[in-house]
Amino acid sequence: MSDCLFCKIIAGEIPSLKVYEDEHVYAFMDIMPLTKGHTLLIPKTHCKDLFEMPEDVARNLYAAAPKVANAIKSAFNPVGMNTINNNGAEAGQTVFHYHLHLVPRYDETDGLKVQWNGR
Ligand code: 5GP
Ligand code: ZN
Repeated sequence: MSDCLFCKIIAGEIPSLKVYEDEHVYAFMDIMPLTKGHTLLIPKTHCKDLFEMPEDVARNLYAAAPKVANAIKSAFNPVGMNTINNNGAEAGQTVFHYHLHLVPRYDETDGLKVQWNGR
């Protein structure tokens, strides 16, 4: 999609810090990281959100997710990781090309303001 920010990132028209890439997906550092190593994993096929994601796109995205998580783990040595996906403006989605946030967690001082299960 020509006016989509993340399609432009995939096309290399907007620079990004690449974490992982294969035929189907691209992963890159979030420009406003919640914690050190916060990464976004996106399908190369444009789809707006989870509701519109074809099954093969979902399969390829999640096939890559452990590889991306382990690349982040190797680079930053977090003690845990949250994966988050916002669908719809009301749910906090601001870029309308599906993306899975991978947010490494360190300890109680990692500065993450978003609380999940009390931490
Ligand atoms: P959302 O709020 O839609 O779930 O998440 C969108 C994410 O995209 C945000 O965390 C935001 O920081 C990130 N983001 C927005 N514009 C850019 C950009 O131009 N480059 C990168 N690397 N991340 C971006
Ligand atoms: Zn797109």
